[in-house]
Amino acid sequence: MIKLNENYLKLQDSYLFSTIAKKVSEFQEKNPNKRVIKLGIGDVTLPIAPTIIENIKKSADEMSKKETFKGYGPEQGYDFLREKIVQFDYKTRKIEIEKDEIFVSDGAKCDTANIQELFSVDNIVAITDPVYPVYLDTNVMAGRSGNFNKETGKFDKIVYMKVCAENDFKPEIPKEKVDLIYLCFPNNPTGTVLNKIELKKWVDYAKENKAIILFDSAYEGFIVEDNVPHSIYEIEGAKEVAIEFRSFSKTAGFTGLRCAYTVVPKELKIDGISLNKLWNRRQTTKFNGVSYIIQKAAEAVYTEEGQKQIKQNIEYYRENARIIREGLISAGYTVYGGVNAPYIWLKVPNNMKSWEFFDELLSKANVVGTPGSGFGPSGEGYFRLTAFGNREDTIEAIQRIKKLK
Ligand code: PLP
Repeated sequence: MIKLNENYLKLQDSYLFSTIAKKVSEFQEKNPNKRVIKLGIGDVTLPIAPTIIENIKKSADEMSKKETFKGYGPEQGYDFLREKIVQFDYKTRKIEIEKDEIFVSDGAKCDTANIQELFSVDNIVAITDPVYPVYLDTNVMAGRSGNFNKETGKFDKIVYMKVCAENDFKPEIPKEKVDLIYLCFPNNPTGTVLNKIELKKWVDYAKENKAIILFDSAYEGFIVEDNVPHSIYEIEGAKEVAIEFRSFSKTAGFTGLRCAYTVVPKELKIDGISLNKLWNRRQTTKFNGVSYIIQKAAEAVYTEEGQKQIKQNIEYYRENARIIREGLISAGYTVYGGVNAPYIWLKVPNNMKSWEFFDELLSKANVVGTPGSGFGPSGEGYFRLTAFGNREDTIEAIQRIKKLK
């Protein structure tokens, strides 16, 4: 008889965003005249830069003519885009990455989710707590999690690396030996970063313990401080132990267009077997490439105009982040992140729980954010606001929050 993959039954329902939506709609029903401002969602709001749109139109036109029509493209991505990535994202930072170490995809979400297929189910996985939930859930689906403990809110085979104000949101090397380590910096949800020395500790650990780091740098475009690495390959030796995930979603507003890439260096081997070869095998088997039009859109990101335009958008969000951060600090809140990232992580005042603060903010200030406990047990007592809203709403939301105090 057919049997289910019972690991799926272990997944904890994510009530986070549906509960938020339900609470907001109930509030609006009762208070139709109140204007609710949403600073909760991690999605961009500014339109795609004009140069990128031009390239989309041009490449759509190419599809309309027999001579320039394109069917299936290379599963790994077109050379024109992989070459730009090598040149602009790595060579300019003095990092040697080869074109065939780049795998273009339709999202860092699916890449960070799919990559674990390359590793045995016996491996021990380390994630931060709080965390971007994809890393956890995909390992649960694969059978690496053990059982869920309702009391702790944790799976018993996953190693949770608590990040909180007490350790400055820097995960500590676990006491137990781990094999696969997910690191996301700049971090979602805390908005915090690691500097080069802090990241080097992880590279050294991975080398000594034959572990692999899965480094998600989807928010790399928001980094402004010099000592914060844009790529894990800025750390010597990282090519032997790390896979890097990048995305055009937050850096160029591609959340609706869908384009990202993953770097699997050729030096990365387990028992002499190349992970680059295995990932290539996986992608060519299960994936048929990102559309030509969208890869052309991504190529436009690397033109002079494209760079200028996407930086203007990032600057807009960064200014929102500054307004939120400084406004909250001046109102007496303790605030983290928001400097090299579009996320502001605040300590909930008066020992309230994250959801209590959510309710208070919604009912009294009519502002929506995301309760930290939704990202893991150690997110309890924290709250996430995002800088992706529009300027006027961001300013007004902060004015309203200030009045609360
Ligand atoms: N990685 C992190 C840490 C994210 O926060 C997100 C989106 O919110 C993603 C990956 C998803 O990126 P993409 O849109 O490329 O799938």
